[in-house]
Amino acid sequence: MENCIFCKIIRGEIPGTFVHEDKQAVIFLDINQAAKGHLLIASRVHVEQWHELDEDNASHLARLAAQWAPAVLDATKADGYNLLQNNGPAAGQEVPHVHLHLIPRWTRDGYFGGVPDRMAQPDELRETAMAISEAKSTQ
Ligand code: AMP
Repeated sequence: MENCIFCKIIRGEIPGTFVHEDKQAVIFLDINQAAKGHLLIASRVHVEQWHELDEDNASHLARLAAQWAPAVLDATKADGYNLLQNNGPAAGQEVPHVHLHLIPRWTRDGYFGGVPDRMAQPDELRETAMAISEAKSTQ
């Protein structure tokens, strides 16, 4: 896509620090390192959100995360990592080109607060499950 910043990085029009490139996807370092070793795994195809990917591209991105996480752990001596995937501005997506973040974590690094916990009652859980299942059955 013409003006997409990740498409421009993929096309080599603006710099990116790549660790991997293949036919379907690329992996480069996030310019804002949430933690040292923070990678972005992006599809070559320009779609904005995860559910717009075809199954093969979605599987490929997930597979790359699994394949590259051990190298990130090894190189950074991290104790763990987060896979983060934002869809839509409400979810914190800044670049509307689908990508996964792979972010190294260290014990008690205190980097992220995470999403809020809210204990739900069983009735509410059942009602929510029913609403989602009904929506799925009509798609
Ligand atoms: P998201 O908020 O999930 O859309 O994440 C977009 C990420 O892209 C942010 O973490 C940015 O730091 C990162 N980013 C934006 N521009 C560049 C760039 N030119 N090179 C590398 N990473 C970038």
